[in-house]
Amino acid sequence: MKRIFPLAAACLMLAGCGAQHAQQKHSRDVFAMDTYMLLTAYGNDSVNEPLIRAEEKITALEHMLSVTDAGSEIYAANHAGGAPVTVSDDTAAILRTAASVSQESGGALQISLYPVVQAWGFTTGSYRVPGEAEIAELLQNVDDTRISLEGNTLTVPDGMQIDLGALAKGYTGDAVTALLREAGITSAIVNLGGNVQTIGTKPDGSKWTVGIENPFGGDQLLGTVHVGNKAVITSGDYERFFTAEDGTRYWHIIDPADGAPADNGLRSVTVIGESGLRCDALSTALFVEGTEKAIAHWRACDDFEMILVTDDRLFVTEGIVDDFAAGSVLPWEEITR
Ligand code: FAD
Ligand code: MG
Repeated sequence: MKRIFPLAAACLMLAGCGAQHAQQKHSRDVFAMDTYMLLTAYGNDSVNEPLIRAEEKITALEHMLSVTDAGSEIYAANHAGGAPVTVSDDTAAILRTAASVSQESGGALQISLYPVVQAWGFTTGSYRVPGEAEIAELLQNVDDTRISLEGNTLTVPDGMQIDLGALAKGYTGDAVTALLREAGITSAIVNLGGNVQTIGTKPDGSKWTVGIENPFGGDQLLGTVHVGNKAVITSGDYERFFTAEDGTRYWHIIDPADGAPADNGLRSVTVIGESGLRCDALSTALFVEGTEKAIAHWRACDDFEMILVTDDRLFVTEGIVDDFAAGSVLPWEEITR
């Protein structure tokens, strides 16, 4: 289960202090998608109504996208025995981004990994280490290139199952911030458990501050980034994990190459960009790719910045360096194009 970034919450409180009446802080706690979420908008009392509608939108998306909800579009596609199903524009948009990020990451993102994620128990909390033969058999049905999407018609091959958990929260953040913007809100921050998305600036005109959590435990942040109108989305090995009897730690982001937790020295990846959907898909893909490939991937694109956390240092891409403040836990290096 995800925690709200303590620093982001603290900054919100500071931003609220002394703000004039017209810029009062209004917050809404939501528990959805197995995540604690906090929606905060500044303005007069009229911002409460869009915050309620934002919560309703999150609940609606959860029902539409959840792999376990028997009424969801994903459940229908997974249980159609290979027959086509019609999906909403929302689901189609998520699937298109999943396909493009899978392709550009050399297959690191595979939404068809769901049965493997399930075998490790990450979906239920009944953790176990599956045997090699079991994983090898499940991997035979992992191949996102075999998923077909023509317009709003989705076909998942018989025997395959997909799950949008790697990127659907980013889409949800985009939907929520769009709704709040359309309602005229110009200052807001939404935290969907590790996925932070912002509108405008704080009421005092300064940028939002988002903390980079310490994967090694402890309250000290590895650093902070200062952003306006951006998504800041983190995938890490410390979010959902278990420790086996022999002391080995296993986490929830799986390398499709071997069906085991991606273990390449990266501890977390934070992606900063305009689109929450794309940043969320990228955070998972880059985590699987590992430091070297992630840097090459960043160099091949011009629409995101990133912070990679390894055991002994942080790598910060040049476009975010001016808005990055390092903590004292680890040294950091700038990555240039
Ligand atoms: P991210 O890095 O963004 O995503 C990691 C997740 O993606 C993993 O947990 C796994 O599910 C999947 N994954 C792992 N490796 C790969 C890979 N290589 N390629 C693609 N995907 C991969 N959790 C529950 O326990 N119960 C629920 O009922 C539940 N309902 C949900 C409903 C919705 C609509 C959504 C979006 C999520 C829900 N979740 C639920 C949480 C979900 O299962 C994931 O754990 C969560 O989305 C992970 O997000 P993250 O930001 O921690 O990690
Ligand atoms: Mg992700």
